[in-house]
Amino acid sequence: MAESSSTKIGLRLAGKVAIVTGGASGIGKETAHLFANQAALVIADIQDELGIQVAESIGTDRCTFIHCDIRIEDDVKNLVQSTVDTYGQIDIIHCNAGIISPSDQTLLELDVSQANGVFATNAIGTALCVKHAARAMVDGKVRGSIVCTASISASYGVTTGTDYSMSKHAVLGLMRSASVQLAKYGIRVNSVSPNGLATPLTEKLLDADAKTVEEIFSKFSMLKGVVLRTNHVADAVLFLASNDSDFVTGLDLRVDGNYITSDAVI
Ligand code: NAD
Repeated sequence: MAESSSTKIGLRLAGKVAIVTGGASGIGKETAHLFANQAALVIADIQDELGIQVAESIGTDRCTFIHCDIRIEDDVKNLVQSTVDTYGQIDIIHCNAGIISPSDQTLLELDVSQANGVFATNAIGTALCVKHAARAMVDGKVRGSIVCTASISASYGVTTGTDYSMSKHAVLGLMRSASVQLAKYGIRVNSVSPNGLATPLTEKLLDADAKTVEEIFSKFSMLKGVVLRTNHVADAVLFLASNDSDFVTGLDLRVDGNYITSDAVI
């Protein structure tokens, strides 16, 4: 894990209860480790073995793993209900689980079943997590914080990966609508949008090791002298999750080093 220590957290999440979806790997795993220093934590994922390993490395007295496929509403309901049953309430959810397209498609080649699969996870699955966590916050009269992981692909047109980009644009629509509708309950909803970075997702996509993936993605950032890593994204999530951003809602916080569009790179 990158250096995301309890000193950085102070008491920002003290006494809070948090859920991280997609917490078995990559950005979610990093956020889980960062949150777990202070908050009671539930990790949700479909990779059970990895999820259990993350929970055990944090300490099962403070962290629980729950199998949850965010595409299945009953799984999401169970995640939320189990968290409330165990810890009494939900203060924070990082709706982070997501996938890329199985194959990179242009619009002219768009395959509907593939696009539906990407939307089922990234758009609808994320919406189900926001819905059920928000219901628990409203019922529990908790002034909670919801943070979604979108992507830099949510704000630009892309040369390929059309369905992924569309699904991440949907996450911004979800975040903005939820932030408007939940404001009257004091619930904040924001998103983070990372530039490309090395995680198991992108290492598999590019069939390359972390260093090579970082070299490839560094071309898409104007900011030089620093490489985007999972700890940078987790720090942005922590800011939005904690009371440090107490009056911030409806914001898409880009963690992108000033994105350079792929057209400009090519
Ligand atoms: P990752 O593959 O390392 O982690 C994603 C996790 O989500 C995995 O553990 C996976 O099992 C889980 N997951 C996938 N489908 C799920 C489902 N239906 N239910 C529950 N869990 C599920 O990838 P990552 O790069 O850490 O991605 C995290 C988020 O960040 C995703 O939403 C991704 O789109 C977004 N993102 C990643 C990058 C990047 O370059 N890595 C850039 C921008 C945005």
